[in-house]
Amino acid sequence: MAEKRDYYEVLGVPKDATKDQIKDAYRKLALQYHPDRNKDPGAEEKFKEISEAYAVLSDDQKRQQYDQLGHAGFDQRYTSEDIFRGADFETIFRDMGFGDLFRTFFGGGFGGYQRNNKGQDIAYDLEITLEEAAKGTEKEIEIPRTEKCETCHGTGAAPGTQPKICPRCHGTGQVENVNRTAFGMYMRMVTACPTCKGKGTLIDIPCSTCHGTGLVRKRRKIAVKIPMGIDEGYQLRLRGEGETAPNGGEPGDLYVLVHIKPHKLFLREGDDLWYVALISFPQAALGAEISVPTLEGQATVKVRAGTQVGEVITLRGKGMPRFRGYGRGDLLVRIGISVPERLTNQQRALLEQLAKELNPDASSKKSKFRL
Ligand SMILES: [Zn+2]
Ligand SMILES: [Zn+2]
Repeated sequence: MAEKRDYYEVLGVPKDATKDQIKDAYRKLALQYHPDRNKDPGAEEKFKEISEAYAVLSDDQKRQQYDQLGHAGFDQRYTSEDIFRGADFETIFRDMGFGDLFRTFFGGGFGGYQRNNKGQDIAYDLEITLEEAAKGTEKEIEIPRTEKCETCHGTGAAPGTQPKICPRCHGTGQVENVNRTAFGMYMRMVTACPTCKGKGTLIDIPCSTCHGTGLVRKRRKIAVKIPMGIDEGYQLRLRGEGETAPNGGEPGDLYVLVHIKPHKLFLREGDDLWYVALISFPQAALGAEISVPTLEGQATVKVRAGTQVGEVITLRGKGMPRFRGYGRGDLLVRIGISVPERLTNQQRALLEQLAKELNPDASSKKSKFRL
């Protein structure tokens, strides 16, 4: 594309021009170059240029950005569609007695037509284990998708032959229709070429593998990297791994929705893991060292004398790694008491003796823990 001219220069106004000055300058130039009036071959380009300059300079925010960034920086942030969005051409043209050609003139040509050319996105549900989520992993998945035909390399033409340039659209895949409406308005629309259906080429002998479409259905294996610390319901986007687009457009994306299988031992809560350790009443009363599972194997945990049911012992940094962050959550061990369902005679005798010893205050003491 040719180097763009400075917008102020295009409208012939100074850098500190007021909004009214900008509007006046645009109206004058629009009268001169409007396609309803001016049928010179260069007039249409000129009209687009002044309209673009006006769209930017009449909008406070866009004007400020343009002043700061210049053409190069501004064009990186705004598409042609963005530039024209919101500008009040309709009022101006109505005031000037022209039809509302703008929506069709610019709306049809930019963005809208091309955007539909992208391949479809694909969604995939993937189940992994908690251990895999903790360490991060790579999974191979298989998805059915449309891909370029290998026999004809996507051209759709039989091997040894070539698609030829469509004579109607000269290979662009687009045609412009210019119509006058009942109100004498001038309408210009860009649509897909009906002869080649937007492809830009025509095929004499179609490829027998893909029947001329250039596309085939395949089951494709794809490696998916699962970052460590990932949680249930997270969606990974694999750019360009979706369906291949017809007519050489951009491929769609693949979205992998991650599910985590329930774990036998741990319950996850954000970056923390919960585990319930059952100990005996004497262990709780006397204190003990117990063994608890962690993601890395067994760990020894000290239970203090006088531990109550429901108490939580925190093992710092033994939880899940923080997703896209540093460090890890905790492993929270909740203490429960296991009560024997059957007793030997000796155990019964000992417990009865203990019960007698504890009896005076056993029932009077209130539990520290509430429901
Ligand atoms: Zn083919
Ligand atoms: Zn064509």
